[in-house]
Amino acid sequence: MNIIQCQFCKKPFGSIRGRICPACMEDIDKDFIKVRDYIYDNKHASIDVIAEETEVSKPIILYLLKEGRLIIDSPDGTGGGLLFCEVCKAPINTGRMCKDCMGKVASTIDKSVSGHKRAETKGSGMSIKGSAKINN
Ligand SMILES: [Zn+2]
Ligand SMILES: [Zn+2]
Repeated sequence: MNIIQCQFCKKPFGSIRGRICPACMEDIDKDFIKVRDYIYDNKHASIDVIAEETEVSKPIILYLLKEGRLIIDSPDGTGGGLLFCEVCKAPINTGRMCKDCMGKVASTIDKSVSGHKRAETKGSGMSIKGSAKINN
């Protein structure tokens, strides 16, 4: 278990996997239901409208989109320019990659998962220094 900084509330927590603390995870699950229901009734709403109407913050909506749990169905079918394929930068409306790149990655994913060990201990750029310091 690693102590890392939560992606959303910035508190350090012991992570088994992922970068979101259990408290935020719970909030995100509730937010997800709100946003999902809103999008269900308002298919072409932009992220600004969604954030305003559901009172869910944009980073959370974006997170849910990237996780593929939400799909923004904008009129032009590109997700309203919010998300882009991480490989070819094509506009997408859910997840991290476009269908083309997903297909390509699927064929190589076996290798990268088994041959990829993360031995990072220092963390990359992110620092939790000072956040838990209490001086009496
Ligand atoms: Zn958190
Ligand atoms: Zn792509």
